Amino acid sequence: MGPGPSDVSQRVLNAMARPTVGHLDPLFIDLMDDIKGLLQYAFKTDNPLTMPVSAPGSAGMEACFANLVEPGDKVLVCVNGVFGQRMVENVTRCGGQALVVEDDWGKQTDLQKVEDKLSAHPDIKILAFVHAETSTGVRNDAQQLCKLARQYDCLNIVDAVTSLGGIELDVDGWGIDAVYSGSQKCLSCVPGISPVSFGPRAVERIQNRKVPVQSWFLDMNLIMGYWGKGGKRAYHHTAPVNSLYALHESLLMLKEEGLTQAWQRHQQGHQKLYKGLTDLGISFAVDESYRLPQLNVVSIPDGVDDAAVRKHLLDEFNLEIGAGLGNLAGKVWRIGLMGFACKDRNIDHCVASIAKAIR
Ligand code: PLP
Repeated sequence: MGPGPSDVSQRVLNAMARPTVGHLDPLFIDLMDDIKGLLQYAFKTDNPLTMPVSAPGSAGMEACFANLVEPGDKVLVCVNGVFGQRMVENVTRCGGQALVVEDDWGKQTDLQKVEDKLSAHPDIKILAFVHAETSTGVRNDAQQLCKLARQYDCLNIVDAVTSLGGIELDVDGWGIDAVYSGSQKCLSCVPGISPVSFGPRAVERIQNRKVPVQSWFLDMNLIMGYWGKGGKRAYHHTAPVNSLYALHESLLMLKEEGLTQAWQRHQQGHQKLYKGLTDLGISFAVDESYRLPQLNVVSIPDGVDDAAVRKHLLDEFNLEIGAGLGNLAGKVWRIGLMGFACKDRNIDHCVASIAKAIR
């Protein structure tokens, strides 16, 4: 019950153990088409350019920035945690100029500050932000941020690593241009795969670049030769066949449950955990109106030894919870309720174990 990877179900592990076939085997090509359709369902999009990048969430992040940012481009990044900071690094390494709207860790990105920056710099080309900040447990207002981007004629890049499958995310409904996620959070798949989706405005930008994408591996124009629909599929890289079996299975499970039902299950799990922990006198660090249900950030009670309690939980109760990151290190714990791990039995075990560990 840390901040990810989350528990993987036996069903997904079994899928992963199926025999490895070639990455151009007709059976596998059919599975690839299924995966694309299931990802479109999970992201709520009709974008044809929706596919899994064969690498972790950070590669999905790089894929978005490397394909959309050209040298000299101004990109506005909202930073209120670790992963917003990582976006700034990406912009700079692509030769772009990062402008930053900074908010305190544990607080939501301030929409007014974003609007002020967008109106002061009409040449900003992209607005980038993290939907669910795993480092702080904060949900940024993706719908309103995308609306602002549209209003100021910018593309948007959205980090949905922790949000996909855990809270509402509506790629087409909110006008998201480029989005990336990770297999290891609320999808409860094995780590190492990053679903991405690019909308029509983003595709147009990629196809009309002045300079080629610096990264050969992440160049969407080339990857589409392998993942593109309809046309002939050609070798680009050796796909992680077994991990894609696992992704396929985890997406099937999400579809069987239903997206809305999955979001509700995370919310109900959060409420149960909230009751259990507040009854122990443990307080939640993030305001309820923008608190993530799948990543619960709680203040470490006074006088409690952070590292000793986490070690005790792991050694005695086989329970992992996450430490605070960056500015929040030593002040908070991060308790994940992601995907398959978000169930009553785990929540009861977590509350009972923490009760004993802090005594
Ligand atoms: N973005 C967010 C919000 C994350 O939580 C993470 C990982 O925890 C990443 C990006 C990077 O993903 P990965 O560790 O799979 O590279």
